[in-house]
Amino acid sequence: MNYISTRGNFENIPSAKAVKLGMVPRGGLFVPEKIPHISTKDLNKMSAYDYRQLAQEILSNYLTDFSREEIEECTNKAYNSHNFDTLEVAPLHKLNESTFILELWHGPTAAFKDIALQIMPHFLSKAKVKLGSKKETVILVATSGDTGKAALEGFKDVKGLKIIVFYPHQGVSKIQELQMTTTEGSNTYVVAVKGNFDDCQNAVKEIFADTAFNFYMNERGYELSSANSINWGRLAPQIVYYFWSYLQLFRKREIQSGEKINFCVPTGNFGNILAGYYAFLMGLPVGRFICASNENNILTDFINTGIYDKRREFKKTNSPSMDILISSNLERFLFEITGHDGKKINTWFKELQSKEYFTVDPFTLKKIQQSMTGDFALEEEVLSVIKEVYRKYNYLLDTHTAVGFKVFLQTGQRKPSPVKTVICSTANPYKFNSSVLEALKGKAYVSQKNEFEILEELKNITGLEIHQGLKDLNKKEIKHKGICEKQGLREAIKEILSI
Ligand SMILES: *Cc1c(COP(=O)(O)O)cnc(C)c1O
Repeated sequence: MNYISTRGNFENIPSAKAVKLGMVPRGGLFVPEKIPHISTKDLNKMSAYDYRQLAQEILSNYLTDFSREEIEECTNKAYNSHNFDTLEVAPLHKLNESTFILELWHGPTAAFKDIALQIMPHFLSKAKVKLGSKKETVILVATSGDTGKAALEGFKDVKGLKIIVFYPHQGVSKIQELQMTTTEGSNTYVVAVKGNFDDCQNAVKEIFADTAFNFYMNERGYELSSANSINWGRLAPQIVYYFWSYLQLFRKREIQSGEKINFCVPTGNFGNILAGYYAFLMGLPVGRFICASNENNILTDFINTGIYDKRREFKKTNSPSMDILISSNLERFLFEITGHDGKKINTWFKELQSKEYFTVDPFTLKKIQQSMTGDFALEEEVLSVIKEVYRKYNYLLDTHTAVGFKVFLQTGQRKPSPVKTVICSTANPYKFNSSVLEALKGKAYVSQKNEFEILEELKNITGLEIHQGLKDLNKKEIKHKGICEKQGLREAIKEILSI
């Protein structure tokens, strides 16, 4: 199966090349030319699979130029008991008769990005060999906190690859900083940048676009690449857990064969929910998707009006991983919704660049609304829903999952026979510990405590074990102490590579 550009501006390429390139060089995203279909009969057969077997089955439908053995090797390296605290990888927690929480945070860094970033580096490593690339790949990442650590853990010790993460000096939490600076592995590098996240991001973008610097690197045997969420190699692994949660429900006799379920997804860059939509296009019985946003509610407005308008204030909220105004993966969704209309996609995304907004036609809007509803939650609602769910079910949500839960409550349920709904839980509650403790105990209670005291406090209150990746961070050796000026990233890279 080949991959095509959402803007019709690139040749058809095999999956290995799509993974290696990341995005279409002239703008646009790679998508599969044709979507593989899985029948209800096949689906029932898969219900006995473990997570790894299911991942092999789904991924081999998409990465068609990888052999079954290669895919197996990748899934074994990613989804094992060293990386995940359960071989279920994504356990499903039953909250009540019709509501289930899909816990996507059992990986090494306690957030859902692990599920894709634990496997994608192995795809990339294999893709390079397939394409005969002899250069060593240097992955550059600018992070506001979470992606950096997830990428470091994923790329750690993967052959033929090095990773350098830049984060804003004094611009991330103490725990996030320690998570990154204590990273082990012979190919991982972390540098603090004297500037904010935008400075880091802009500097990295500039480096990717700097022909002279890229040439300099190539001459010395290196090529630059990125690990960001628009790479198909990051999207495909996320399709797996939509099937997984469905099959769990089937196996536990919560649903009949072929019964439709709903998914509610806390959304930022639109990658997670888009993976669910691909699962639906493949034949997974889904009633609708609920797209949950925080106060950066550009997607809520889009789904309700057909106008995508980024002329609005950026808000920093207590669900920071969803503080996003440009949801890159929306482009893939619209490409599928319009039946692969590259012309329309071109027009809309050019308008977004030049005018900062675009409007889809009424027919497209209707199609969007047939499969998706959108709503948002306020910061204080997030806190009260964490408290309420904890009181009612003795279950602790993180702030991002709480956005999802609140929006799910707002959308209402059919009575008396509600559709079973799976809410994607994207982070372990301890990862956003101070907001979670604030939800339970109030702001004043939290304000005098440092992050490690807050972790302990949460543990004392809830009895929940502290996630392995967050525990004892203050006792680990700091391995990365580099710091640079915001104009100094190129020099930092040269120094790291000794070139
Ligand atoms: C990245 C992230 C999200 C948003 O996921 P998208 O795929 O960007 O929509 C939500 N919650 C957490 C905790 C995240 O890290």
